[in-house]
Amino acid sequence: MSFELSERVRQVPPSGIRRFFEIAEERDEVISLGVGEPDFATPWAARDAAITSLEQGKTSYTANRGRRDLREAIAGYVADRFDLGYDPDEEIIVTAGASEAVDLAFRAFVDPGDTVAIAQPSYISYEPGAIFAGGEVLPVPTREEDDFRLTVEALERAGADEADMLVLCYPNNPTGAIMRAEDLAPIAAFAREHDLVVLSDEIYAELTYEGEHTSIATFEGMRERTIVFNGFSKAHAMTGLRLGYALGPADAIGAMNKIHQYTMLSAPTTAQYAALEALDSCDDEVREMVDQYDRRRRFVLSRFREIGMDVFEAKGAFYCFPEVPEGFTAEEFAEDALREQGVAVVPGDVFGTDGEGHLRVSYATGLPDLREAMNRLEAFVGDHV
Ligand code: PLP
Repeated sequence: MSFELSERVRQVPPSGIRRFFEIAEERDEVISLGVGEPDFATPWAARDAAITSLEQGKTSYTANRGRRDLREAIAGYVADRFDLGYDPDEEIIVTAGASEAVDLAFRAFVDPGDTVAIAQPSYISYEPGAIFAGGEVLPVPTREEDDFRLTVEALERAGADEADMLVLCYPNNPTGAIMRAEDLAPIAAFAREHDLVVLSDEIYAELTYEGEHTSIATFEGMRERTIVFNGFSKAHAMTGLRLGYALGPADAIGAMNKIHQYTMLSAPTTAQYAALEALDSCDDEVREMVDQYDRRRRFVLSRFREIGMDVFEAKGAFYCFPEVPEGFTAEEFAEDALREQGVAVVPGDVFGTDGEGHLRVSYATGLPDLREAMNRLEAFVGDHV
């Protein structure tokens, strides 16, 4: 017999990034600028706290919403860093990565047939997540001439006034775009006017290289309609520990917790101890990692310009998004650069059709490898353009 797959699962194609990793595995000496995770290890104090918790046998479930002391630390952190006020008892839930929090929100707030507007290019999980919840996706293309920021014109062009939910990700994966307060204000007004629930994935908030990150939830009338996602994977280099969180009004977080308590019970306990320590004592390490990303960002942007590839000035996350030279599709460029020069980058169309013509290049890789990778890309462009 074979399993009859649900319509929802059949609707979602396999991840486009995977295929490139498979080609990369066939070759020696590939430098990967394809992955979206820090090359740094988790700060030592956080790892040490995890080890100590294991030595002490702290291996049981925690409260469904996460340890109370961790939620309190998260409340303090988001208040200090982003001017966000959330009650640790009712308005914060700790999850298995921000990924789980995003999935919980789709399942808690999307009914079959609801329209989920997603600003694109965007992180690859939103569209499948919305579809798995029964929603219908409305892509909202952003444009390079707007520095890949979302505008009210883009929302109107896409018909997002009719949507039920709007998904934002700034700093953005894959473009590296950020939205400043003055860019967010009209989007907040649009969401209020058209009564949209907003999911705001702010997992790269710490990785903002010019100015300070602003959350859309800080605008008047937005706290009550917004769920903010954040986590420890990126800024604290904790991807494998799988810890994230969501912030929102008590009834919304309560609804997400209802799903979480039946499907996950609680986020990984060892990781919660690591996260508590990370918030308590690892600010210097975070700052050092952010400084290094910034140095790499400037290096990669300037090398793309030297090579003669147009690249928009990414200001956040750890990606840049150069344009593919004429004569190539993004997929052809990525595949040929990998086969001929052993450099893995991701074609932009993986992140939505409006990503076509671009490449996502991650600089979460040490400078020596980045230098070599950029030399190889220069040779590749020299051979073909
Ligand atoms: N959100 C964005 C925008 C991401 O880029 C990623 C990972 O690449 C995630 C969420 C997943 O985060 P986590 O590891 O906390 O599940």
